[in-house]
Amino acid sequence: MRSSRGWTRSPDVPALTRALAELVGDRQVLADPQLKAGYEVDWTRRFRGEAALVVRPGTPDEVVEVLRRCAQAGAPVVPQGGNTGLVGGAVPLGGEVLLSLARLTEIEEVDTTAGHVVAGAGVTLAALHAAAREHGLAFGVDLAAREQATVGGLIATNAGGPRVLRHGSMAAQLVGLEAVLADGAVLRRMGAVEKDQAGYDLPRLLCGSEGTLAVITRARLRLIAAPKRRAAALVAFDAVEQAVAAAARWRRELPGVEALDVVFDNGLARVCAQRRLARPFEAPHPLYVLVEIAAQDDELLALAAAIDGTAGVRDATIAEDTAGRERLWLLREGVPEALGAAGIVHKLDVALPPAALADFAARVPECVRALAPDAEAFLLGHLAEGNLHVNVLGLNPGDERVDEAVLALVAELGGSIGAEHGIGQAKARFLALTRSPEDVATMHAVKHALDPDWRLNPGKLLGPPPDDAPA
Ligand SMILES: Cc1cc2nc3c(=O)[nH]c(=O)nc-3n(C[C@H](O)[C@H](O)[C@H](O)COP(=O)(O)OP(=O)(O)OC[C@H]3O[C@@H](n4cnc5c(N)ncnc54)[C@H](O)[C@@H]3O)c2cc1C
Repeated sequence: MRSSRGWTRSPDVPALTRALAELVGDRQVLADPQLKAGYEVDWTRRFRGEAALVVRPGTPDEVVEVLRRCAQAGAPVVPQGGNTGLVGGAVPLGGEVLLSLARLTEIEEVDTTAGHVVAGAGVTLAALHAAAREHGLAFGVDLAAREQATVGGLIATNAGGPRVLRHGSMAAQLVGLEAVLADGAVLRRMGAVEKDQAGYDLPRLLCGSEGTLAVITRARLRLIAAPKRRAAALVAFDAVEQAVAAAARWRRELPGVEALDVVFDNGLARVCAQRRLARPFEAPHPLYVLVEIAAQDDELLALAAAIDGTAGVRDATIAEDTAGRERLWLLREGVPEALGAAGIVHKLDVALPPAALADFAARVPECVRALAPDAEAFLLGHLAEGNLHVNVLGLNPGDERVDEAVLALVAELGGSIGAEHGIGQAKARFLALTRSPEDVATMHAVKHALDPDWRLNPGKLLGPPPDDAPA
């Protein structure tokens, strides 16, 4: 019998613990509840579950052997990188082996000829940026969790962030990868060739698969030229329509535009209160767009002129030095932490067509108030892609009524319920809202082909296996 979590039998945990300890060393297999605890709860503290054990291999070869032993024992496996995911994808539901990839921290090569970096799955985004910088290059993806988020997790979620508008998400940086299937078989496409259309694009299939198809061990990623100058501006608006129109105009007029993020006033107010920062403008405004340009020439004057000539701008502040830009970014990037300090947040990462953004932003607070009068919605995100993070404070962790209503609204307005954070366990049961039955059935077929026993990250993304799945 399949369990609702997706696996068929309970593994012999003491025997598996001994077998894995022989393989990776006693210190890298954690069975003590106190030592496991940090791996069993997610960044939001909304999702937690007990792992049978935590195993921390130190090399890709050890990952292969760990997966073989887990397969022999019939043990389900949850891959985990930096554990900064926001949909409960990297924490167990209960009883799985937690496979931490955090020790695969080797940066094997920065290939300046090809413009690539070869990095282990556990390399953090910050370390990747530093390695690129040492060679006068840069990496196209950046996000606030850069100190903890890992290459494996970033690929597994197809992470985005503010710079997607210019450089694309992780899929666009991916040249090749190495990954291990549930039975220990290794898929390796690590060649330094930019054009390789020989057959299905398996690296991109794994990109965004959230640990449900294979465990990523290494990747070859594209690097970009490092910009010589950066400047950022925080620009205040009264209405979402005006901000959307301004963002579209700046994209057309400013070739160096690299980020167009948005934060609404209640979120910005929380950051200022939590960090004891002065508010950026004398008067509050309903929403603010953070625009950043990164260029080889001095585009500051062009940025100032573009902002000056834009309808609906109520106020603006520009920074071109690093400290000034960091102060502006803190007002946007500090929101998740400020909200997390106030309680457990329901996080709904969604995307809307540009024309529907204003309607959505107006209806979300009503929708939340109608179901949970004491709760409050905070909106922020990446305006250029219509990607809003709806953060709701004041709900019980298990109360999904608001999640369901907001996601249904996204579907009604023609959006996506998963923009860049993935589906994980938070949204698995809502997947069919914006994916057709044929689409979901094809995903199930891929899952059966690569992981026939549904042992990799069971219950995440696709939810539990259907009853008629081959066991
Ligand atoms: C403050 C903050 C800001 C954030 N901002 C952004 C943002 O702007 N854009 C964005 O896209 N995300 C953002 N995130 C979300 C998060 O940082 C990303 O999802 C990131 O890619 C997760 O990386 P990780 O190493 O922490 O992965 P984890 O949280 O450890 O795992 C995430 C998923 O990937 C799987 N996984 C992890 N490693 C592997 C592997 N080696 N092989 C196979 N599967 C694996 C896990 O099973 C899980 O399903 C933010 C998070 C925080 C806390």
